[in-house]
Amino acid sequence: MLKKVAKRLSASIRSEDTVARQGGDEFIVVLPYITETNVVELVSQKILTQLSEPYHINQHEFYLTCSIGIALYPEHGKDADVLLKHSDTAMYNAKSSGRNSYRYFSDEMNLQAIENHKITNYLYTAIKENELQLYFQPIVDIDNRIASLEVLLRWHHPKENWIPPTKFIPLAEESGLILPLGDWIIKSTCLQIKEWLNDGYDVPKISINLSAKQFQHKLFLPNIQHILQETGVAAHNLILEITESLLMKDNEMVKKTLRQLSSLGFVIAIDDFGTGYSSLAYLKNYPINNLKIDRSFIRDITTDENDAAIVTATIGMAHSLGMKVVAEGVETERQVAFLNEKNCDLYQGFYFGVPMPAAKIATVLIPESTQAPLTLGKY
Ligand code: C2E
Ligand code: CA
Ligand code: CA
Repeated sequence: MLKKVAKRLSASIRSEDTVARQGGDEFIVVLPYITETNVVELVSQKILTQLSEPYHINQHEFYLTCSIGIALYPEHGKDADVLLKHSDTAMYNAKSSGRNSYRYFSDEMNLQAIENHKITNYLYTAIKENELQLYFQPIVDIDNRIASLEVLLRWHHPKENWIPPTKFIPLAEESGLILPLGDWIIKSTCLQIKEWLNDGYDVPKISINLSAKQFQHKLFLPNIQHILQETGVAAHNLILEITESLLMKDNEMVKKTLRQLSSLGFVIAIDDFGTGYSSLAYLKNYPINNLKIDRSFIRDITTDENDAAIVTATIGMAHSLGMKVVAEGVETERQVAFLNEKNCDLYQGFYFGVPMPAAKIATVLIPESTQAPLTLGKY
């Protein structure tokens, strides 16, 4: 594959230009004689087109995506080291903005890269120093009874104040910190469950978000089993939330891990459903219990006909596949009424309860001895 890519790259440039493999799947193209920047764009576009053609290897057909970062001499750097570093920054930017694109380096990107580097370093310390906290958001049925709690990470940094998970989770994934962090989340959640059980609370199922990288690591399954053993928490106490992007590549390893988790008793939920373009028909190949419809579809459900139709169809099809449906980001009574009419099973959102620290959520969990169902005051 690499050789074929190299060939196509060489064919996309002129003889005075250079192509080199930087390592892994990264290549460097040097265009020493350009007079106008639009030449760079033409070459970039040509490379993207060339590389997106199918590859035939051993009777199999493969497709690749490619991301290009561009650094210009002398605007973006006066020596090779700086130019390489800045093209790398631009390449990551192209990658995160959806692949198959090119990006010029910019000072903002550089500031962003420096900022990200700083946060990643802080995160490293935060995991060691226990700066991170678990918050819990209730997921309820139509009678306002708590069906489960979703664990959402909160990080209060001594200097930077609150750093949202949407910022630090992607950085943890990029840096590999998601592996120790992921284990920490699972373990802390199990310890919290244990504590509540010891205090005599009726603990609902607790939902944990898993990052794709964490899930695909070969140590994920042994680690989670080890944590259960160590803490004495049962698999059926936990719901594991994965995103649909993980299922889209028809990956045998993912399928196998999911089947193993399911047979161990974990409940499996698909998070942010609808954002990854997967079809429900596809999901039937996997042992999935719950489907969480993404907030973006719920938001305008009472005003946007398309969203209403999508959600209605999704609920119907999920039910026919034996899955329970959770609506995410429910904020208004009208949304609840609409969803209830369409037979949505479970609800999560600010209307029913915001994410809360353990001590606060415990006040709505009730002792096991009490017979009354768990209900929650509305916000
Ligand atoms: P998510 O898994 O989709 O989590 C739901 C997000 O929606 C949470 O944001 C929650 O606070 C927010 N939310 C809940 N109800 C409402 C509502 O009614 N309206 C609005 N506008 N928002 C609502 P949060 O806590 O900022 O987390 C963002 C994302 O960060 C999560 O999205 C998840 O992908 C990731 N994340 C959070 N904690 C973890 C974690 O422990 N592990 C992993 N891998 N990812 C996490
Ligand atoms: Ca989630
Ligand atoms: Ca979600």
